[in-house]
Amino acid sequence: MHNLKLYGLALVAALTLASPVAAQDAPQWSFAIHGGAGVIERANLSPEQDAAYRAALTRALEAGAEVLRNGGEALDAVEAAIRLMEDDPLFNAGRGAVFTGAGRNELDAAVMNGADLTAGAVAGLTTTRHPIAAARAVMEQSPHVMLIGSGADAFAASQGLEQVDPSYFFTERRWQGLVKFLTDNSLPIPERPAGAPPAGMASLEPAPPLNERKFGTVGAVALDGQGRLAAGTSTGGTTGKRWGRVGDVPVIGAGTYASNRDGCAVSATGDGEFYIRASVARDICSRIADGATGQVAAQAEVDDALSLGGSGGVIVMDAQGRPAFAMTTTGMYRGSIRADAPAEVAIYGDEQ
Ligand code: ASP
Repeated sequence: MHNLKLYGLALVAALTLASPVAAQDAPQWSFAIHGGAGVIERANLSPEQDAAYRAALTRALEAGAEVLRNGGEALDAVEAAIRLMEDDPLFNAGRGAVFTGAGRNELDAAVMNGADLTAGAVAGLTTTRHPIAAARAVMEQSPHVMLIGSGADAFAASQGLEQVDPSYFFTERRWQGLVKFLTDNSLPIPERPAGAPPAGMASLEPAPPLNERKFGTVGAVALDGQGRLAAGTSTGGTTGKRWGRVGDVPVIGAGTYASNRDGCAVSATGDGEFYIRASVARDICSRIADGATGQVAAQAEVDDALSLGGSGGVIVMDAQGRPAFAMTTTGMYRGSIRADAPAEVAIYGDEQ
C-alpha cells in the first residue's frame, strides 16, 4: 500500500512535469542588451559600421542566450555578454573606453542580483580587463557594495581577475575623440599615454569616426528559467571627465538596478549626472511595482529624468521576460533574444 502510494505520487509528479500547463508556467528566459545611446543617425554610420555594430550586438546576445538556454543563471548571462562587449573596441567599456581629461582610461561597472538584492560596483579601475567581473566579485566575495580606484583593482587582482597594462584599453578612435573634445574646450592636451601605439599606426585600427563625446556604454538585463532577474552595466564614462568623476553606472539605483520584489531589471546609458539625480533605475522599478508596464515605466522615467537635462536611454526586463527599450536620443545600440524568439538588434530610434 505504502509503495503503491509512492508510485502514485511519482506518477502525478511525472505527469505534472510533462504537462503543457506546467511547461507554460515555467518562466521563459529572456535577455536584452544595450551598447550605448546617443546621436546615432543613418547619415553618421557607414554600411560597414552599421553592420559591425549589429554583428557585435548579436554576438553578445548569443553569449547571454547560450547561458540561459542551458539553464544557467541570469547573472552569468549578464556577465558573459558584457565581458564580450568590454573586449570589443566598438564600445565605450573595457578596451575602447573613452579617455579622461588627463589621458587615462578609468572604468566603472556594476551588477545587481534581483533575486536577493545583492549588488557590486567598481569605479575608476585602470588595470582590470573586465570591470563587470570585478563588480561581481565585489558583490559575491566582499562585504562591500562599491570599491574605487587602485583598491578596487587590487581587490580584483586578489580574486584572480586578469590585470593588464593601462595601455591595453587604448584605441586611436577614443584618443582622437579626447583630442577633439579638449581642443573644442580650449583645454590642454595630455601626452599620448605610455604604451600606446605610435600615432602613425592609427590607420591599422577599425576607427568609426563618430563625433561623440560619450556613449557606447554597455549593459544587459536578464530573466532566467528560475525566474531570477539580474542587471549589469559597464562604461568608460564620459570623454574628458576630470577630478575622479564617477557616473551613474556604478551607483546602484541610478544606472543599474534589479529586483525580483518589484519584478524588474534595468541598465541605463546617457548623461550619468542626471541619472544619478533622478535615481532612474530604481524609479523605473517602483513604477513597475506600482503596475506600469516596463515600456511605459521606462519611457515615462527617461522623459521625466532627462527633463532635468542630458539625454540617453534605458533597457528594462520585467518578471514575465518582456524587454523594453526607451530613449530620448536618435539611437541606441540594442537587442533582445528570448526562449521563444530569435535575436533581434536595432540601432536607430525608428526601428522596432
Ligand atoms: N552613463 C555613462 C556615464 O555617465 C555614460 C554613457 O552611458 O554613455 O558615465
